[in-house]
Amino acid sequence: MNLILFGPPAAGKGTQAKRLVETRGMVQLSTGDMLRAAIASGSDLGLKVKDVLARGDLVTDEIVIALIEARLPEAEAAGGAIFDGFPRTVAQAEALDSMLARRGAKIDRVIRLRVDDAALTARISRRFAEQARPDDNPETFKDRLAVYNRQTAPLLPYYADKDLLTEIDGMGSIEAVSTAIDAALDA
Ligand code: AMP
Repeated sequence: MNLILFGPPAAGKGTQAKRLVETRGMVQLSTGDMLRAAIASGSDLGLKVKDVLARGDLVTDEIVIALIEARLPEAEAAGGAIFDGFPRTVAQAEALDSMLARRGAKIDRVIRLRVDDAALTARISRRFAEQARPDDNPETFKDRLAVYNRQTAPLLPYYADKDLLTEIDGMGSIEAVSTAIDAALDA
């Protein structure tokens, strides 16, 4: 099964993806984690994207599509991928569909975690205090939310039209959200 966890930054996608890795043996493919690893390693890619992440903008479609494509065989071997933070543009979604189609696979479900902006902002200031991720600072976070609304939210009709979208209330406890995701996947 290939699953997209969809939602704004700090909606809980990473937390829920990690749980699904443990409970279902799927592979988490987080483009944000891959880009942060590239930055930490000081690679050419890392140097190229460092400022983009710091500003809260999106890196090019080409970069993230290549990162995902390189990891698809591993996910396939494990029985499925959880796409976390990818796709973020319609071009990425179309590229994902064709990469999977070439491998005889498809997206089976898109789970949207709904969290209102006030709760996201509260979560992010906690995460900023705990982890000091530069792009979690309040000003950059505002920009990341705007980027989500402008470039990523338009993907919702893309998946709704394909009848793949399940909406879940992401405001509850981690356990409550997990239970709702399990129910959606096992339906
Ligand atoms: P995340 O950890 O998913 O919030 O991603 C952190 C940052 O990495 C984002 O603010 C973007 O700068 C970049 N990024 C992650 N995934 C993507 C993507 N699919 N497309 C473009 N940029 C991305």
